[in-house]
Amino acid sequence: MYKKLIIFDRDGTINLDSKGYSHIKSECKIYEDVYSFFSALDTNINICVVTNQSGIGRGYYSEKEMHEFNYEINKLIRLKTMHRGIDHFFFCPHIPSDKCNCRKPKNQLVKKALKFFNCKPYEALFIGDKLTDFQAGTSAGIQSIIIDRENSLDSVKLENLEVNIYSSLEFSNFKHYFE
Ligand SMILES: [Mg+2]
Ligand SMILES: [Zn+2]
Repeated sequence: MYKKLIIFDRDGTINLDSKGYSHIKSECKIYEDVYSFFSALDTNINICVVTNQSGIGRGYYSEKEMHEFNYEINKLIRLKTMHRGIDHFFFCPHIPSDKCNCRKPKNQLVKKALKFFNCKPYEALFIGDKLTDFQAGTSAGIQSIIIDRENSLDSVKLENLEVNIYSSLEFSNFKHYFE
C-alpha cells in the first residue's frame, strides 16, 4: 500500500534523547539512520512530527525554545541530505495531569495531522520509539512501527500486540511501504 504521509515521533526517534526533555539546540544530535532514511525518501511524501513536549508544561523550557530545537533538526537534515526536512511539527505542551486529548497515547494530534495533509489513515505510516507512539498511531487507524534501537522494549508488554518492531530506520526495511 502506497504511503503518502509519514508521522514521526521526535525525541528518541529523530534526535537522540539520552537525558530526556531535549530542548537545547546546540546539543541536538540526529540519528545517522535518520539522515540515510531522508536521503532515500521520495520527496513527494509529506513528513510531520507528533511529539509530547510536557517540558513546556513543566516549565523546563519555553515553546520558543522548542520551535528553535525543531528548526535545528531541519537545519541538520537539510545540511546532510538533499531532503527539505520535516514539513510540520504538531506538539502537546501539556503534563499528564492536564488530562488533555493531545498527549500520546491519545491520538488527537495524529488525527489533526491526517486532516492537515488531507490524508486517509491507510495512506499514512507512524514511526516512533515507544509503545505510546504505537498506540497513538494504531488507534487512529494508522499502520505503526516502533524503532527499538537499543533493543530495550519490554517484550512482555508487547506480547499480545502485533507490533512491527525494527532495530533501525534502515530504508530498505521500509521501501515496500512506499511503492
Ligand atoms: Mg520518543
Ligand atoms: Zn496535550
